[in-house]
Amino acid sequence: MMTKQQIKTRMRNILSLAPQLNDILVSSAAIEKKKDDIHIWLSDMLAETYKENSNIQPLKYILARNAINIFRNILSDRSEKMAAYSFTGYLVTLLTVSNDDKFESPTAGFFAELEHLIRGITGATGIYDAKLPAFSKHEGRRAARMRSADLSRMGRTSQKFMDDYTSGLENDAIRRRSRNKARITNFFGATDREWEKWNWHLKNTIRDADTLKKLIKLTDEEYKAVQRARELKIPFGITPYYLSLMDLDSGGHRDKAVRAQVIPSLHYVNTLAEQNLNRENCMDFMLENDTSPIEGVTRRYPNIVILKPVLTCPQICVYCQRNWEIEEVDSQSAALPGPKLEAALDWIKNTPEINEVLVTGGDPLLLSNRRLESIVAEIAANPNIVRIRIGTRTPVTLPQRITESLVRGLSRFHVPGKREVVIITHFEHPYEITLNSMEAVQKFRRHGMEVYNQLVFTYYNSRKFEACFLRQQLRLIGVTPYYTFNTKGKAETNDFRVPIARLMQEQKEEARLMPGTVRTDEIVFNIPGLGKNYLKASQHHDIISITPDGRRVYEFHPWEKKLVLADTYIYKDVSIYGYLKRLKSDGQDVSAYRSIWYYY
Ligand code: SF4
Repeated sequence: MMTKQQIKTRMRNILSLAPQLNDILVSSAAIEKKKDDIHIWLSDMLAETYKENSNIQPLKYILARNAINIFRNILSDRSEKMAAYSFTGYLVTLLTVSNDDKFESPTAGFFAELEHLIRGITGATGIYDAKLPAFSKHEGRRAARMRSADLSRMGRTSQKFMDDYTSGLENDAIRRRSRNKARITNFFGATDREWEKWNWHLKNTIRDADTLKKLIKLTDEEYKAVQRARELKIPFGITPYYLSLMDLDSGGHRDKAVRAQVIPSLHYVNTLAEQNLNRENCMDFMLENDTSPIEGVTRRYPNIVILKPVLTCPQICVYCQRNWEIEEVDSQSAALPGPKLEAALDWIKNTPEINEVLVTGGDPLLLSNRRLESIVAEIAANPNIVRIRIGTRTPVTLPQRITESLVRGLSRFHVPGKREVVIITHFEHPYEITLNSMEAVQKFRRHGMEVYNQLVFTYYNSRKFEACFLRQQLRLIGVTPYYTFNTKGKAETNDFRVPIARLMQEQKEEARLMPGTVRTDEIVFNIPGLGKNYLKASQHHDIISITPDGRRVYEFHPWEKKLVLADTYIYKDVSIYGYLKRLKSDGQDVSAYRSIWYYY
């Protein structure tokens, strides 16, 4: 913990970048007058950049303008009211604090945010080179060749990052998985033929720490977390197939994302244990209860509904937003009872505005072919329905489920010109891609059905160019990137969370360098109870504060904006500083992420 003197010294150092701001904050004026003076200072800073003969580069001007607007927004009474805290008042406290004052101590993350905000406003970000690239002084072929050399350098840099990640389609990975499969089948005394049967995998799903430990090496924390999860009856399971995607040794980087997908952290199980007392209220983060007009149905949009005929999956993703209602892995009681399912299907039939149904859950591919086809048939019987989406992660966790008969059955409802059936899957990492998952995808494609991917952007796939590499590999196996979701703000999944600024940076500095056919996804923040907010469009959200622990507070606008009145949504992000610190402790060169502070 810093002493009051250390805090003051740190503040003065940061404010030496903007002496006028410092003078305003330490003046004896009342807080409202200080805010007015800061507004005038910000306006002057902006006007300065318009002056004739201003040396400021256009891109530096744009950065400064953005940062100025953010500070203006944070200053407003309205923002302070929504954030229930005054950023300006806090700055004054930190500069003028005396020994007896009580206040929340600022974190390193707060100082980092403040410093970068001021650097943005004053044009001292340091993210650009001092001069324009050399080619800009030339014309024609000479300029083109110089620019081409610059672009090649950029291309080599991105490739270098991508070379750090392993695709499951690489020969070494294929050989490794083949050895893993032999080890697992040997353990279960199973044949190759049994391995190809999806029911065999469900029957032999690994559900406890001791069995898991016999099949792969676990860190002490992994072992303890699984054991505690089981004691607390937290859903846990790993299909033998998905286990074969994990490397035998623990602690490696290659399969970290695969393990983190299903092996919970101790933080996760301990937090869930605390929340269990008030399970639904604490955990229904997406407020699905408030958007469900009838059991089994969720509606957030005029024409689209979600139908959830089954509330379990072959294995449970640790960060699942539906973890409050997902039942035990492959639970027999997880299917929506027949009469309730019929009522939900009737409700869809009697709501003629609905023209698209997302059948999800849980994972509807846990249902038998007959049951799934009968549901799809009932939906398709409604003349308004033009699209049926089936949300399933089985191409990743259980590709054996994608049999010819399943695909043929579903394809009957895919009628070009009338109605499409599309598959929405959920690959999280290039190491999850295998020859089996590619074959599963290709089966759908051969029957004319498109396969899209929804990526949840977590700590484990957020390194530089990691998501790009995944998208590239997905396109190669026939999957189209569809959405990239920001991770949700639930306490138990804090380990997974990534600041929103990183998602924006990824889109702008990494995804943008890929061909248009690869970067087809939209980055979104899924607002609880409201629906998707498109993060790329900066006019759909605002930063309204920065808290003492260095977290940005956002106000998200609902999709209904300019159509009908609806509430906005206030969200406290995770700290950028904390995220970068973690990357650094995992061996990343964080200087490659330095512009992250200037994404708002
Ligand atoms: S596959 Fe989807 S529904 Fe199932 S556990 Fe994972 S995130 Fe949740």
